[in-house]
Amino acid sequence: MTLHTGTPHAGTPRAGAPHAKTLHTGRHFLQIPGPTNVPDQVLRALAAPTIDHRGAEFAQLTLRLLAELKPVFGTTGPVVIYPSSGTGAWEAALVNTLSPGDRVLCFETGHFATLWQRMADELGLDVDLVPGDWRHGADPETLAHKLAADTEHLIKAVCVVHNETSTGVTSRIPEIREAIDASGHPALLLVDTISSLGSIDYRHDEWGVDVTVAGSQKGLMLPPGLSFNAVSEKALAASRRAHSRTSFWDWQPMLEANRNGFFPYTPATNLLYGLDEALRMLNAEGLPAVFARHARHARATRAAVRGWGLEVLCADEREHSGSLTAVLMPQGHDADKVREIVLDRFDMSLGAGLGKLAGRVFRIGHLGHLSDLTLAGTLAGVQMGLELAGVPVDQGGLAAALDVLRAE
Ligand SMILES: *Cc1c(COP(=O)(O)O)cnc(C)c1O
Repeated sequence: MTLHTGTPHAGTPRAGAPHAKTLHTGRHFLQIPGPTNVPDQVLRALAAPTIDHRGAEFAQLTLRLLAELKPVFGTTGPVVIYPSSGTGAWEAALVNTLSPGDRVLCFETGHFATLWQRMADELGLDVDLVPGDWRHGADPETLAHKLAADTEHLIKAVCVVHNETSTGVTSRIPEIREAIDASGHPALLLVDTISSLGSIDYRHDEWGVDVTVAGSQKGLMLPPGLSFNAVSEKALAASRRAHSRTSFWDWQPMLEANRNGFFPYTPATNLLYGLDEALRMLNAEGLPAVFARHARHARATRAAVRGWGLEVLCADEREHSGSLTAVLMPQGHDADKVREIVLDRFDMSLGAGLGKLAGRVFRIGHLGHLSDLTLAGTLAGVQMGLELAGVPVDQGGLAAALDVLRAE
C-alpha cells in the first residue's frame, strides 16, 4: 500500500475500501466513461439554494432548459427530462411507444445493448436479438435483411445503442436509418445516446430517430441523476396507441406540465441548475468544436494504444468511439490488475471490462470536461500502470499521443 500525503479528492470513498490508507495530493483522475469529471462551474451551480418548483422563477428555468436542450439532440421536437439514471429513460422509451407482445429488434453490440434488450424482455416485449461479437456496431445490412423478411411488419421498433460504452464502438445511425427507409418498413427507431450525446455528432431529426435516450453523467458533464427522451411526432402518435402499463414514465402528463415550465412531480431542481450551466459551456465552445475535440482526443488515445503495441477493441475504422477507448490486454495479463495499480499509485480510475469482457479490457474515458493535458496525464498514468503490471509495452505510446496533440 502506497502512503501519500495530502487530502484525498473530496467524495472519493476511502473508508473500508482496499485503498483506505492511500492518501493522494491533487485531483483524482476520473477517467471512466461516465460518470465523468464535473466542471467546477457546474459544481458551483449545483450548490445554489433549492427554489420552489411551482414558482415563476422555476418555470422560467425549465422553459429555457427545454428550449436549449433541443439543439443538443438535433431536434425541434419535445425533450422529456426525468429525475433518474439513464436506465429510467430506456424504460420510458419502451413503455411509452410499445405494447406487451410487440416485437422489437435489438443488436447485441455489447453490455449496455444486452441490458436494454433484457429490460425489453422483462417488460413483456418479444425481443429478436441480432447477436454480435462486441467489436462491431449494429450492422445496417443485417437490419435490411431482417426488415425485408418481416413482410407482416411485426417488428414495431429497432433498438440501437449509438455509442456502446462497454466496447468503444459507435454504430452508424445514418446507415441504420437508410436501411429502414430503403425497406419501407414502419418500425420505430429507438437510440441510446447516453454516452454520446454532447460528445459525438448526433442528429435526432435529420437521422429520423423516434426516441433518443440520454443521461446526465457522461457527455453532459453533470453528476448522475437526470435522464432524457427526445421524442418524434411518430413516437408521440405511437404513444397514443401503446398500452404498456406505466405511470411515472408517461410522456403525456410530463409534456402537459412542461408547456408551462412545470413537472408532474418534483424535479431534480439542483441538477437542473447544473444542466443550465453545462449547456452554457457546451454552447460557448460550440457543438461542432465539442465533437472535434472528442474525436481528436480519441485519435491521440488510439495512437498511444497502438504505440504501446496493444490492440483497440473496436474492429472497424468507421466505428471508433470519440468518447472512450477500450484496450485489449495481451494473453495472460489481467486488465483489472492494471486498473488497481493505476488507482493505487496514480489516483486514477479507469473503466473496467464489463460482462464477458471482464478482465480482458480496460476502458479509457475521454469524454466530457477534458483538456489536452488531462488526456496526456491520463495516458502517462496508463503507460506507467501497464509497465508496473508487467505488461510488455513500448514506451513510445505516450509520445505517439503527444505527437497527435501537438500536430492536430
Ligand atoms: C451509462 C450507460 C447506460 C446506463 O445508464 P445509467 O445512468 O447507469 O442507468 C446505458 N447505456 C449506455 C450506452 C451507457 O453508457
